[in-house]
Amino acid sequence: MGNTIRQREGASDTLVFFVRGEATCSACGTGIVNGGFITKERGRTLCLRCADLNRLSYLPKGDATLTRRASKHSGALALVVTRVYSKKRYKREGILVEPAAIEQARKECRADAAARDKRREEREREHAVRFARALRHRYPSCPKGVERKIARHACKTSSGRVGRTSGAKRLDEKAVRLAVLAHVRHHYTKYDKLIDEGMAKRAARSNVQDKVDDVLRRWGRKARPIK
Ligand SMILES: [Zn+2]
Repeated sequence: MGNTIRQREGASDTLVFFVRGEATCSACGTGIVNGGFITKERGRTLCLRCADLNRLSYLPKGDATLTRRASKHSGALALVVTRVYSKKRYKREGILVEPAAIEQARKECRADAAARDKRREEREREHAVRFARALRHRYPSCPKGVERKIARHACKTSSGRVGRTSGAKRLDEKAVRLAVLAHVRHHYTKYDKLIDEGMAKRAARSNVQDKVDDVLRRWGRKARPIK
């Protein structure tokens, strides 16, 4: 049954499933406990040994660079997924690849970790600049420098996502609006005071809404040209 592992070129990758409850291998009769791996072949359930996948190691998802590099270095690859029954689709959990490929990938990741951090910081900075520009465009009368302050804060909070998406993704107008809204609420209204006094968030927000709207209206207006 050595053909179960698809080589990288050509056919789509083999799917391996986490066992929920328990399963039995159709070929050798081995019981597989909850959390173990199985694969399907022509409707049959196979343990990894019978599917000739047991020489591969599991690498959970989470580090995209490590996953990409390990996949690249491995001669064989299987995708580990769980089935999302409600949505009739698979959720990706990780990959099975050759142990040497994981080792090689880890080595490469260690070697250029600092350089990748630096590039990510650079992307975050660029994102903050774009964010501030979009903010100034949308709220042309906001006080000088406030757009940079809000942008820095917003980009720091979302830095986990920023690094990956900012390059390709267009700046989200809603993100800008929400960041401004939060800033105005905290700095131009008694919202924080109300919260300190024990008011529920929802009530406090509604309490200061008029004031927030007022500030946003002023910021959103174009300054009149001086005659
Ligand atoms: Zn088996």
